Amino acid sequence: MTGTVYLIGAGPGDPKLITVGGAEALKRADVVVYDRLAHPRLLDYAHLGAERVYVGKQADRHAMRQDDINALLADRALAGLSVARLKGGDPFVFGRGGEEAEFLRERNVSFVVIPGVTSAIAAPAYAGIPVTHRDLASSFAVITGHERDDNRESGTRAPGEAEQRRRWDKIAHAADTLLFLMGVENLDEIAGNLLANGRGADTPVALVRWGTWAGQQQTLVGTLGGIVDAVRAAKFSAPAVTIVGDVVTLRERLRWFDNAPLFGKRIVVTRAREQASDFAERLRTLGADPIEFPLIQTAPPPDNYAALDAALAHLDTYQWVCFASAPAVRAFFDRLSVMGRDTRAFGAVHIAAVGPATADALRTYGVNPDFQPSVLTGAALAEELPGDLANTRLFLPRALEGDEALTDGLQSRGASVDAVPAYQTQIDGAGADLVRERLGLGAIDAVTFTSSSTVKNFVAALGTGLPPGVVVACIGPSTAKTAVEVLGRAPDIVAEAHTVDGLLASLTAYFAAQAQ
Ligand code: SAH
Repeated sequence: MTGTVYLIGAGPGDPKLITVGGAEALKRADVVVYDRLAHPRLLDYAHLGAERVYVGKQADRHAMRQDDINALLADRALAGLSVARLKGGDPFVFGRGGEEAEFLRERNVSFVVIPGVTSAIAAPAYAGIPVTHRDLASSFAVITGHERDDNRESGTRAPGEAEQRRRWDKIAHAADTLLFLMGVENLDEIAGNLLANGRGADTPVALVRWGTWAGQQQTLVGTLGGIVDAVRAAKFSAPAVTIVGDVVTLRERLRWFDNAPLFGKRIVVTRAREQASDFAERLRTLGADPIEFPLIQTAPPPDNYAALDAALAHLDTYQWVCFASAPAVRAFFDRLSVMGRDTRAFGAVHIAAVGPATADALRTYGVNPDFQPSVLTGAALAEELPGDLANTRLFLPRALEGDEALTDGLQSRGASVDAVPAYQTQIDGAGADLVRERLGLGAIDAVTFTSSSTVKNFVAALGTGLPPGVVVACIGPSTAKTAVEVLGRAPDIVAEAHTVDGLLASLTAYFAAQAQ
């Protein structure tokens, strides 16, 4: 049995812009062949064992020759493997996807084409420029700014030959909106030919570079007469889509992506692995470019759940179970389930939760907490837990390095407290190199800390402090205190509300004030 090659459109950059079909084919693939215009996060769809082959292309530097790419696709498929060929934008828009398909057909290798969102339309859209508009443009054309550069590379094209093939008189009036791909290097030629063929010098032009890439998209607006100088002055470089036509003027009113409150801010997210993505996702919707640094991972406690299991075995002897974190909730229910039991084990036991994330974790198991403290600290829970706690028994599944304030507070009210390790956090060193390198390059704007342990683990994993220019943002006062102790500096931001929402709000306010 031979395998199939999936020619998949990766979309223009924003990893959300891959199709459902594309993501599914990636999940099933044995081999993923990708280049530099496909967002690296898309590789996360592939399973861990999948072979990943980078064949990236830069304008004049091919990491792998097209012939070798073709051969690679065919060989793997003929060996019975499922091959995902991930191509930036749409595979059949200037991606040489057509040539790859022809090659496969000649060798009787079956292929499936999964179209993608082309940068020709998406990059303008993310710059607030619709390619058509009832009043301004009733057609658009997508044009290469670089004809058959493969021939130039292999030296088979005589100088000027491509230009002779191009009918600039036709191109100049091909449509109301002209979209040039691969056109930055040849912009002087493009602009000159359009002007020579009757497009006015005042025709609006925009270049959108790294369109849809959070934190990286750049847009330059000008006119056909002035754009070449503007691009040179701004040192604007590929990859970019060049948009020529009146629709460009709509950007002023329709800009939405690159003016988001945190646009362009490169913000390190330091959280346990399971929690990181949600925070990163929220940052992304505010325009930031989150760098996920999963510092800590949760692991079984050193006693491998012996104490937790023992407490669970007589859960009904407690009056309260107090959950201080979401991982504690998960460990609790995992062990319960290992014992073949379920939520009914709670019986009449009351349940308290510190923080909305903990309460949400409980709700995913169908349990509504009876009580949550007004402030998100263990000390507040100890103070506010209702009723007379004298002679009551409280069960506290928590992190190995748990919050003593909670235990102490509860005991001082006369309760007998079983504080039991349900998990421990461990340093997850992967990613430290990347963050260290980016810090060195000055390519990080802020680092966020959502607990004291994230500060400690950050310093431990990194082995260095932070350069002075990097903004330090903490979720609350106790995290801030640790930052002072461990990083040797006061944080620039301490969230007013000690939640992820609060941290996002404080970050937004901080950078808005900076921009003033
Ligand atoms: N198949 C791709 C195009 C490949 S040709 C598509 O449908 O989008 C490569 C050219 O695409 C680049 O030189 C640039 O002009 C354009 N391009 C691709 N991704 C881009 C992006 N995110 N922003 C701006 N231009 C992009």
